[in-house]
Amino acid sequence: METALPPGATIGILGGGQLGRMLAMAAARLGYHTVVLDPAEDSPAAQVADTFINAAFDDAAALRRLLSLCAVVTYEFENVPVATTRMLAELLPVFPPPDALEIAQDRLAEKIFLNSAGISTAPFVSVDSDDDLRSGLRRFAGSGVLKTRRLGYDGKGQSVFRAGTPASLDGVYQAMGAVPLILEALVPFEREVSVIAARTHDGATSVYDPVENRHRNGILHSSTVPAAIGQQTSEAVRQAAADILAALDYVGVIGVEFFVLENGKVLVNEIAPRVHNSGHWTEAACAISQFEQHVRAVSGLPLGNPRRHSDCVMENLVGDEVLRAPQLLREPNLVLHLYGKPEIRPGRKMGHFTRLTSR
Ligand code: AMP
Repeated sequence: METALPPGATIGILGGGQLGRMLAMAAARLGYHTVVLDPAEDSPAAQVADTFINAAFDDAAALRRLLSLCAVVTYEFENVPVATTRMLAELLPVFPPPDALEIAQDRLAEKIFLNSAGISTAPFVSVDSDDDLRSGLRRFAGSGVLKTRRLGYDGKGQSVFRAGTPASLDGVYQAMGAVPLILEALVPFEREVSVIAARTHDGATSVYDPVENRHRNGILHSSTVPAAIGQQTSEAVRQAAADILAALDYVGVIGVEFFVLENGKVLVNEIAPRVHNSGHWTEAACAISQFEQHVRAVSGLPLGNPRRHSDCVMENLVGDEVLRAPQLLREPNLVLHLYGKPEIRPGRKMGHFTRLTSR
């Protein structure tokens, strides 16, 4: 986009979850309107967007309507059909670029891309049969993480194999759904960190401080800033994020997840071509949140300062943890954010809070 989107212009958002909701709120603060498209009737973003189109991501009439209303389109959901973004991109700017979405949707393509950009990942092999799995596990000394190449998130569609616990591998491929799989070596990581980074169309890049993530039942539980990593590791993850953005000719915010090894070396686990749960702390501990940063990038505005003014810990409120909200609000240095989801369900992200500590 050569010129910045003027105030009053409309941004289209594919996906109406909490990420879309927070993007729409950030867009409104910069004077933009938003149109959200999502197949779910009770999308959290629908409550705050100017217009909600309740339709499938490949509904041609709905996409025409979206096109007629918007000046630029972005997405908050990784599994938006790439074909939809490519079709829209013929008529309007779509950021992040559909190529980035396509790469991130397939764990095999993602790792091949990362390695070709000079970024280290866990060793991996593609698995399309029980025999592929057998030979892959032999190669990784009996241990590994088997994942579906597509549509996996929050640890879904994964099986862990550990050396010394022999299991029959007959029928595993079938049990995983007979879909294309990837086997990764089991990484003995010391900690998991991530960074949120942003890039504009003219290559300006900004990176937030790395955060340390803890998971529970495969779902992000907390993000702590700063991460307990040394200067060199911190620089390595920042540089890797910047290299990935440049290699993708990226526009927008990206989340990059890393494993940190005992020796301080880092491997990229995965990239998310969108705002990211491990960046929610930025809304409370930085003047410019990841959501505003994304809106700025896709609208052709200059990026904001990613500096954090406070240390903090962000925690997700999953399922009935959201019932803690009234109690949490008693804490003076705590910023609460609820997503307005009408129904509490186990495993459903209902909100999050960020507890500011001193700096
Ligand atoms: P993912 O869906 O790929 O982000 O994986 C979910 C979680 O599983 C990660 O956050 C790690 O805790 C763990 N995990 C994934 N891949 C590996 C791996 N290759 N080695 C060790 N742990 C892994």
